[in-house]
Amino acid sequence: MLRVEHPTDVTAGTKDIIGVVEELLERAGEAGVRPDCVGVGAAGFVDASTGSVTFSPNLAYDDPHIAEAVRSRCNLPVLVDNDANAAAWGERAFGAARGSDDVAFLTLGTGLGSGFIAGGRLVRGHTGAGAEFGHLVVDPDGPECPCGLRGCIEQFASGGAIGRMGRDAARGEPASIMVRLAGSAEDVRGEHVALAAGEGDEAARSVLQRAGRFLGIGLSNVANLFDPEVIVLGGSATRAGEPYLGAARDQLARMTSAQRRRPVRLELTRLGDDGGLVGAAALALDEAS
Ligand SMILES: [Zn+2]
Repeated sequence: MLRVEHPTDVTAGTKDIIGVVEELLERAGEAGVRPDCVGVGAAGFVDASTGSVTFSPNLAYDDPHIAEAVRSRCNLPVLVDNDANAAAWGERAFGAARGSDDVAFLTLGTGLGSGFIAGGRLVRGHTGAGAEFGHLVVDPDGPECPCGLRGCIEQFASGGAIGRMGRDAARGEPASIMVRLAGSAEDVRGEHVALAAGEGDEAARSVLQRAGRFLGIGLSNVANLFDPEVIVLGGSATRAGEPYLGAARDQLARMTSAQRRRPVRLELTRLGDDGGLVGAAALALDEAS
């Protein structure tokens, strides 16, 4: 596999995408590979029918019409979709949800991204702004979310949320291992919370359990909305391990059994951080064929 990596420029997303595509095509040419199409997984609300980003809370695109911009450089069919939609497609094609027509994929990083496949098709909504599970409001008085709302589940269940709740907890527990690892309460991030919990820090452990409980509530909501055969979890926060994932699994099991639902299969990603890349390519190929 040819691989090119550029760090994301949060102020010029499209320029970066074009840079990566041009470098990849040049390398492919050198290797005698002739690509059929280009697939792009982009953060934000993406209208896949036009390949344009309509809204992106965490990343600025210098040109929202990504597909058009890439096509003008390479003269190949270009498919652009939301990165979590692409990852859901990737898990179904090659990963933990292989062969299933009803799949939910949640990526737990700074934010909470999601992609849903129902009846073998991606759920995109009328303008591509659907399937944004992370922005379901669970507390109308909760913290502000970059999307413009307050109290989105992303603010309680994601890796970013673990960091914020860790800082809140660390301010009240200056002797916490989180503070020792981060240097100060204000510098606590999700990874410090996970490491501290691993060293037996009770405050850190309870932060992970709280985030996991919210994640479990989210998973139950996913089951109520889509009744998926399998839910796949990915993203850096899954590395926080059992205090977080176990709490989510327990919460989901409690809610599933209260409703007498069939237990949902819960899996971790098998494609890791490459799910979005692989899925975008598979989507583009499916679309081109
Ligand atoms: Zn939000």
